[in-house]
Amino acid sequence: MSEQLEKKVMETLKKIKLSKKDKILVAVSGGGDSSVTAYLLKKFGYNIEGIHINLGVGDYSKKCMNSAKKLCQQLGVKLPVYDLKKEQGKTMKDFWREVGEKKKLNNCAVCGVMKKWILNKEARKLKVKSIATGHNLDDETETFLLNVLKGSLGLSSKTGIITKNTKDKKFIPRIKPLFYIHKKDIMAYARKNKLDFVDGICPYREDSYRIEIRKFLSTLSNKEKENLMKNAEHVLKKIKKENSKIQYCQLCGEPSRKNICKKCGLMR
Ligand code: AMP
Ligand code: ZN
Repeated sequence: MSEQLEKKVMETLKKIKLSKKDKILVAVSGGGDSSVTAYLLKKFGYNIEGIHINLGVGDYSKKCMNSAKKLCQQLGVKLPVYDLKKEQGKTMKDFWREVGEKKKLNNCAVCGVMKKWILNKEARKLKVKSIATGHNLDDETETFLLNVLKGSLGLSSKTGIITKNTKDKKFIPRIKPLFYIHKKDIMAYARKNKLDFVDGICPYREDSYRIEIRKFLSTLSNKEKENLMKNAEHVLKKIKKENSKIQYCQLCGEPSRKNICKKCGLMR
């Protein structure tokens, strides 16, 4: 079981064609997926550094940060912490209250935009070649189905084991080593290897549509989920737009598809 998982991840990494010399920034949330991502990259001999974003949402954030720190200590990996309150003057709870209500966005939507913005910026500061996240097969299948059902397949067009924009130096490629691995197998692997992680989902999760889709997907077999993603990749290859034009946000200077980036759009 463990061997099979390791083999699959190794194959994914081969497809991504990463050099073992280039530094990879692993976004370590304190959850099982990103803990396994960091553990395996380290085990396979990649040059990694971690980063944890302290969202400042009470006890949950404290638990996550502790796990992330313990894991990185065990692995002998550096883990700078980006403290949202210190850096932005507000915790994620403040953002949810202020931005979420004003823009009619759920917690997960606000949090997702902020995290992507922070990771790209910090990755550049730390001069890494790519950012690895713990996204797994279940996450990816959910997102794909969600976009199909919302009639926004185009939003999935960037999905894959690597997201990059080769024409833009300010955009750091994001990789997903666990793209083909089922959530259940990742959790079993994390337990077997006694990795430190917070079990369970974020108590502030607020994405009812995604939760419905997750319920539906849980009725499918592993094979069916894998087939869904195989088809997704096949279809998406055809609609992948070649490096759609990137510009820089007029407010923060980060790469963006519009003249104001998503993060700054939320703040206005
Ligand atoms: P999520 O959007 O919470 O499902 O998380 C997806 C991935 O984003 C995780 O597997 C991590 O790699 C990364 N991530 C999420 N939250 C954090 C955090 N607080 N700090 C660092 N990375 C995170
Ligand atoms: Zn911006």
